[in-house]
Amino acid sequence: MAIVSLAGVTKTYPPAAKGDAPVTAVDDVSLDIERGDVFGIIGYSGAGKSTLVRLINALEPASGGTIHVDDIDITALSERELRRVRGGIGMIFQQFNLFSSRTVGANIAYPLRLAGWKKADIDARVAELLTFVGLSDKAKAYPEQLSGGQKQRVGIARALATRPRILLADEATSALDPQTTHEVLELLKRVNEEQGVTIVVITHEMDVIQTIATKVAVMEKGRVIEHGDVFDVFSNP
Ligand code: ADP
Ligand code: ADP
Repeated sequence: MAIVSLAGVTKTYPPAAKGDAPVTAVDDVSLDIERGDVFGIIGYSGAGKSTLVRLINALEPASGGTIHVDDIDITALSERELRRVRGGIGMIFQQFNLFSSRTVGANIAYPLRLAGWKKADIDARVAELLTFVGLSDKAKAYPEQLSGGQKQRVGIARALATRPRILLADEATSALDPQTTHEVLELLKRVNEEQGVTIVVITHEMDVIQTIATKVAVMEKGRVIEHGDVFDVFSNP
């Protein structure tokens, strides 16, 4: 079965003010993301991409439909069981979301400390991740001393720390210049190919999809209007 499977998923937010209409951010979306995919979700701002990611990561409940992650129906789980599912999913963000008062090493160590790892195991894992993302010399640096691309590499290391099987990248290169974007996408490709991590890339940029994704879903007004192999969806016969 697909590693992430959505069937008829809908998310409606209540009206912002009395008299407003409710907002249907995700509208009857059905989608299968296979193990090992680099799956792109593209659409304009407001299309519902971030909401879809928060549903997959079980940060918000769906209003309707079912979501399977790793064969588990996450729409029917307790909060405690949800925490376990979330542990199998890493996330990276447009603004990196690093702790500015903590070193690079401590940022990467953070999820491992939360997960209760022993100090020696944390140190070994952090060193391994720093090597993988090419920042072994920056363990003691603070985020403000890093370039945008370096910050995102720290974000990737932190997201991978607990060895998740899925990595969700929400506009992860949107704050970066083209050259740095390219470097970060190359790193994500290695994460996919060398570590077998399934990657979901949310973006409004076609270039990002064409550089890294094998499959794509195009979202508009909460709906998936087209999906399939990148080559098929974006070729113009
Ligand atoms: P995208 O990530 O594609 O820009 P979003 O998922 O952020 O789209 O938003 C989709 C729609 O849902 C938008 O109309 C947005 O205003 C609305 N929306 C998103 N989050 C909330 C929320 N927490 N409460 C109310 N409306 C929301
Ligand atoms: P803080 O003072 O904010 O706690 P530290 O720099 O002391 O930050 O590091 C906290 C954690 O980060 C350590 O427990 C260790 O696991 C990890 N760490 C820091 N530097 C390194 C390093 N060079 N190699 C491996 N792990 C490191």
